Amino acid sequence: MTDKQVYLPASGISKEVILTEMQAARSRDVDWRDGRVFSLVFKANDDVTGLLKDAYGMFFSENGLNPTAFPSLRRFETEVIAMVGNLLGGQGTAAGNMTTGGTESILMAMLTAREWGRATRPKIKQPEVVLPSSAHPAFDKAAHYFGLKLVRVPVGDDLRADVAAMRRAVNMDTVLVVGSAPSYPHGVVDPIADIAALAQERKLLCHVDACVGGMMLPFVRRLGYPVPDFDFTVPGVTSISVDLHKYGYAAKGASVILYRDKALRRYQLFATTDWAGGIYASPTMTGTRPGGAIAAAWAIMNYLGERGYLQIAAEVMRTTVRLRDGVNAIDGLRILGNPPMSVMAIASDRDNVYEIGDEMSVRGWQLDRQQFPPTLHLTVNYAHTAVADAFLMDLAQSVIAARQPSLRRSGNEAAVKAARGAAKVLPGRLVSGLTGRASALFGGDDGLPQRSAAMYGMMGTLPNRGDLHELVLDLLSSFTES
Ligand SMILES: *Cc1c(COP(=O)(O)O)cnc(C)c1O
Repeated sequence: MTDKQVYLPASGISKEVILTEMQAARSRDVDWRDGRVFSLVFKANDDVTGLLKDAYGMFFSENGLNPTAFPSLRRFETEVIAMVGNLLGGQGTAAGNMTTGGTESILMAMLTAREWGRATRPKIKQPEVVLPSSAHPAFDKAAHYFGLKLVRVPVGDDLRADVAAMRRAVNMDTVLVVGSAPSYPHGVVDPIADIAALAQERKLLCHVDACVGGMMLPFVRRLGYPVPDFDFTVPGVTSISVDLHKYGYAAKGASVILYRDKALRRYQLFATTDWAGGIYASPTMTGTRPGGAIAAAWAIMNYLGERGYLQIAAEVMRTTVRLRDGVNAIDGLRILGNPPMSVMAIASDRDNVYEIGDEMSVRGWQLDRQQFPPTLHLTVNYAHTAVADAFLMDLAQSVIAARQPSLRRSGNEAAVKAARGAAKVLPGRLVSGLTGRASALFGGDDGLPQRSAAMYGMMGTLPNRGDLHELVLDLLSSFTES
């Protein structure tokens, strides 16, 4: 954040100056290239990246909005959807669209459920969606945008959806049940066959969120690892979301929403015939769609092919097994549940994992912190194949370091205790101020928290979640203020 106002420069600046400045601006970005970051970036190898850039650049200016103007993009999109559909048991009948990401794919599945409910269950005033507590926040976003009611059901001890509890949550207003393959927080695959059977029994739609798993699980299974059924081969599954910009290794802005058949997909489509600008139709949320993302996805899928994806999956799974076994071998740490692929969560029954996360940050590893229960998140990808041993060594060191008494750590504990005590007696607004100050207090001097254990410790225990919600919105709003 800067204090000075930024205006459009009166006259343009030279390319060299601009590029130099942009390069300098990246200096504090997370460096994902050396495999020390465990989220946000999925990369295969330089060869793949080169092709992505070429394909993206070739269709840099084209717009996927109008399929009649660019038959090339239409062909790429149709073939990408068919390839993903055929990978996921949708042979010949599945229909769908490319979107800009998992969130948009999930938004589309939720919109379709609402529109399907309006058409087939006209008595429903507010349609409801029953889903496990672990399902992605994109479902909350969709409910927020489209006026659906979410009924989140706590997961079982194995961190998978509790289908008996979901069954109890289904009522006359339910239109959709959801499962993840796998869930993002813990990487476990929900009992999709049971969820889909529930959907069939109650004549509901069933969405499988395979955003992170859809381009990985089919290959993991072919490699011989056990993978539960999760796709259109399961009767009752009516839609699936699959991100290509994750384990599909496509350029960002590429995902697929698939429906079991065209009739269901129709509820997703939008058209208006009364606009001065002519008849306007669009299948997904966005109007203009970057042609580059569509073209790059098509290119990479054809370049890697089944064998390429299998090879990458084999390496990623080898690394995953090494990391899983290595984490479990560290005294006090364990991987939660039974994740069948390369997404997992590290928990500790003995130590404060947020302190361990801070020690890992100091050693240059970027791990997302999770809550309920506190864990550190791992999304293993190709970039990690070379660093697994270094990671495990630093993790073991971090556990030891986190156990050392230190002034800072006891300061953290005191701060958390004080905040918990204060939170009980202070009005909500003041608690916000307190946590806000805490994050500044424990953050690095550039506002990026190096040491965040105290902040997470506090936030996880705040009794007033509504207040935390406001605090987070304040932060989000401040991110783009100059
Ligand atoms: C990443 C992810 C999403 C959201 O996808 P975006 O591309 O970030 O919008 C949804 N569900 C799961 C399981 C995911 O891993």
